[in-house]
Formats: sequence, C-alpha cells, structure tokens
Amino acid sequence: MTTPQGRHFLQIPGPTNVPDRVLRAMDRPTIDHRGPEFQALALRVLAGIRTIFKTEQPVVIYPASGTGAWEAALVNSLSAGDRVLMFETGHFASLWKALAERLGLQPEFIAGDWRHGADPAAIEARLREDRGHAIKAVCVVHNETSTGCVSPIGAVRKAIDAAGHPALLMVDTISSLASIDYRHDEWGVDVTVGGSQKGLMLPPGLSFNAVSEKAVAASKTAGLPRSYWDWGEMLAINAKGFFPFTPATNLLYGLDAAIDMLHEEGLERVFERHARHGEATRRAVRSWGLEVLCQEPAHYSGSLTAVLMPAGHDADRFRGTVLDAFNMSLGNGLSKLAGRVFRIGHLGHFNDLTLIGTLGGVEMGLEVAGVPHKAGGVQAAMDFLAQQQESQAASHAAE
Ligand SMILES: *Cc1c(COP(=O)(O)O)cnc(C)c1O
Repeated sequence: MTTPQGRHFLQIPGPTNVPDRVLRAMDRPTIDHRGPEFQALALRVLAGIRTIFKTEQPVVIYPASGTGAWEAALVNSLSAGDRVLMFETGHFASLWKALAERLGLQPEFIAGDWRHGADPAAIEARLREDRGHAIKAVCVVHNETSTGCVSPIGAVRKAIDAAGHPALLMVDTISSLASIDYRHDEWGVDVTVGGSQKGLMLPPGLSFNAVSEKAVAASKTAGLPRSYWDWGEMLAINAKGFFPFTPATNLLYGLDAAIDMLHEEGLERVFERHARHGEATRRAVRSWGLEVLCQEPAHYSGSLTAVLMPAGHDADRFRGTVLDAFNMSLGNGLSKLAGRVFRIGHLGHFNDLTLIGTLGGVEMGLEVAGVPHKAGGVQAAMDFLAQQQESQAASHAAE
C-alpha cells in the first residue's frame, strides 16, 4: 500500500468534510462559559439555529451525538408504557425504535421495505384505528441515511390531522438538516432531532431538539426519568444565554460560522445544490448499469445515494479497494444491507468538482475491483452539471 497523498475524500453520509472556515472558527481558546463573551455567542447561535430548522420556537443544543438527542426527544415528552408509532424506513428508524424499547416505551413499527420513505396513508390508517388515542407520538426519520430515501413530513402532518389524532410528531432530521428542505413550524413538528456532523458541516459532538409549545407542555407531565436531557432547566437558562452545564464551547464557535455560511449561500440554494448533486449521482449510477436503492423518485435524497452492488459482488470489498487505491471513504451498507450496498455521501461542504472527483473514484474503483459496469457514469454526471450551470448562467443574464 502506498502512502496516501493529497486530501482524503470523506464521502460517507456523515461525518462530512468540515470547511476551513469552520475549522478556523473553532481554533480559539475556550472561554469562561459563565462570562459575557460566551453569553453573546450563545444568544447568537441559539437564535441562528432556529433559522436553520425554520422555527421561531426554542432549539435545545446538547453536547452529544445525534443518538443523545433521540433519547432527549423521548424522555422529555413521554411516560413509561406509552405507545409510539414509528415507520420502518431503514436502519436509523430501527435504532430509534430499539432505543424507545429500552426506555420502557411501547414502539410499534409500520413495516417498510427499506427502499421507500414513510407512507402517510399507512400512518393515517393506523391512527384512525386508535380511537382511544393510546398512541402518544409518531416518529419518522426525514432522510433515512441507510437507504437514501426521504419521507414526506408535510404529508405525515396532514395524515395525523386527517385522522384527528392528538399524538406528538417527532422527526429525525440528522442527515437532512441544511441539505434538504425542512420546516419545523410549517409542518407542525413537535420535536425535531438534529446533529452537527452532517449537513451542518461541523465535527460530531452537537445535537439538537427543536421543540414546539405542545411538546414543552407534554414535558411538564411526562413521566420518564430524565436529568441531563431535561428541557426545563435548559430552556430557562438558555433564555439568558447560558447552559446548565459546560457546553461544547468550541463547537458553538463552529456552529456560528456554519450558520453564517448557510445564510450567505441562502438555504434555498443550499437545498438546490444538494438536489442537483443527487440527480447527477443517480445519472452516473444508471449509466454504470447499477441500481439506486431508493425506488420512489419522489423520495430521492439530496444528501446521499445508496447503490446496490451487482449480485455476487461484495460492497465492502469494493469500498476497501476505493480506499486503498484512491484514498476515498464511501459509506457501508448497514445491518440488513451490509455488503449489498455502498453509499455515496454528497452533503455538506460540497461542490460540482467534489462530486466529479467522488464519482471518478467510484467509476475507477468499479474497474479496479472487477465489478461489472458500463463506462460513462462520470460523463453523464458532467453533462448534467454543465447543463445546469449553463441554464443558471442564462437565467442570471436574463435577470
Ligand atoms: C447519523 C444519524 C443518526 C445517529 O447520529 P449519531 O450522531 O451517530 O448518534 C441518527 N439518525 C440519522 C438519520 C442519522 O443519519
């Protein structure tokens, strides 16, 4: 094996590449978290992060991975034995369900095939059956990172309303926040769970709960034990610009810079960029003669693309070849998809040339690993991206 040269391509769907501007923002002395300089930073990021969730309600920031924020969402708003309706979109939905079981909740899965997003009609039908309102929450993963399928959260909200059901709506947006359009307030989400290391372009270590008034009201009577995750003390102290325990100060510096970067580009343009890179990637995959795992075009992800390996070829062996030969990490297949798919992350700090480099590594890797495929995937992606740039230039000229 040769010594890797140049920049490593970290093309897994999180953690993602951290921009230099975010790294520089974090490269500072840690300050007194009870002093005025920290207070100004905290008030700025606590306000700024709301704009990313598209909410005017509070967002709690934990020094924790996304899993911590999953737990926080459940323990703050539910009681032992509560029924929770979850949709089996894939591996991450399954992990959230297992966590709910360990907390003493009674989660129930609507079965899915790991190739589609959640089905609002199935959620509505199940809620209509629940005449006694035993179900206390509906939990959906917005972008299922194991499959590259996006669930229609606005339609899930409508389904809950159509059933006239009072359950809380909780959504995991860990791999879609700041990559795929997400609207906490407009979609009437009660608890949104986010994380730092995906679309937000930060290192791992921060996670979020955006909380509605209804969720905060539920937390007042919810019976599950909680201490570290408790919203009550956090929200009261956050209002003054402080935290009940030592926050991850340097990650907050990074978050401040990342929020600025997202607004300088414009959130809608950020979403368009991700959608464009998703489309370019799928064109490459089809040109190679391979199959995109997600089967519903309306659910295609702008964050990542999961690709099925041809029968008889191991995805992990292929990923190993790509890492050794081209110094690029691709995402693995998770649980029942292990060895059967590889995942191309195209989210966060990412542009057209990063994508072409990434797809070049995949196409060459298929060749080196002896995986049957057709040439021309990178060309198809380049044709699409060039055409997109042309039409953008034309629309700017017309303005
Ligand atoms: C990454 C991810 C998680 C887990 O987050 P951790 O930070 O690893 O705890 C949960 N849900 C989704 C959709 C994810 O992409």
